[in-house]
Amino acid sequence: GEARIDLKNAPREVKQLAHTFDQMLNRLSEAWEHQRQLLSDVSHELRTPLTIVSGYLQSALRRGNNLTATQREALEIALSEADRTIQLLQDLLDLARADSGRMHFHLEPIILNDWLKEVMEKTQKYADRQIDFVIPCDPITIQADPVRLRQVLYNLIDNGVKYSDAQTPITVKLEAQQHSCILQVCDRGIGISLPDQARIFERFYRADEARSRSTGGTGLGLAIVKTLVEGMDGHISLSSQPGQGSIFSITLPLLQK
Ligand code: ADP
Repeated sequence: GEARIDLKNAPREVKQLAHTFDQMLNRLSEAWEHQRQLLSDVSHELRTPLTIVSGYLQSALRRGNNLTATQREALEIALSEADRTIQLLQDLLDLARADSGRMHFHLEPIILNDWLKEVMEKTQKYADRQIDFVIPCDPITIQADPVRLRQVLYNLIDNGVKYSDAQTPITVKLEAQQHSCILQVCDRGIGISLPDQARIFERFYRADEARSRSTGGTGLGLAIVKTLVEGMDGHISLSSQPGQGSIFSITLPLLQK
């Protein structure tokens, strides 16, 4: 709640000051809203032409039987940069939506054990990495948005893959607690230093090591993951040892029967 100060008997100057302050705050919040809207409009406007560019590049690559290796490589680089930018714009849109409270969640009961198995069967095909599962037998039911939850999981697995060696597995672990469940994504990769751990969920923040690795990320992934998890009444935490690996843990409330 907002603390309201009773100014009925305050001197005139104080009342005036309060009034000015109020006006300033209103203007600030209008300006803030304006910025958000602008960001969201710009992202949206840029995404459309880029999606067309990406489409043309894909079809040029598909049909280009006569392309030289150099030409093919140039098109592939152009395509991957276009796609990365589309993803960045999508991320910015998501964050702008979340900021203005316009991110919608379609919550439904999900039996996490079954859902995880199903989602992971699909992921396994693309992941190009061994993914181990630790899933208990007793059904764990939560209330969540399956599309958003998958986005969270993909993002974390994707990071795990990016920041660890190809020979090491990623582990996805589900565990029930009394009123909540914990979903963990663990890797045995480069890990995250203590100072970085404190900032890793900030927008655009990337640890030095990630920058030098040139993994082509944007530093928005974890900011979105956190927003999505919190939007579903959960929270996310991190434990990591540099050189050993990282464990991202999501806690979500169980569906009360
Ligand atoms: P991106 O991966 O696009 O840079 P993220 O928001 O997903 O952005 O991650 C932010 C930063 O956190 C990364 O740049 C990297 O430094 C660090 N990071 C994220 N996940 C891991 C991980 N599993 N292991 C080591 N570092 C990580």
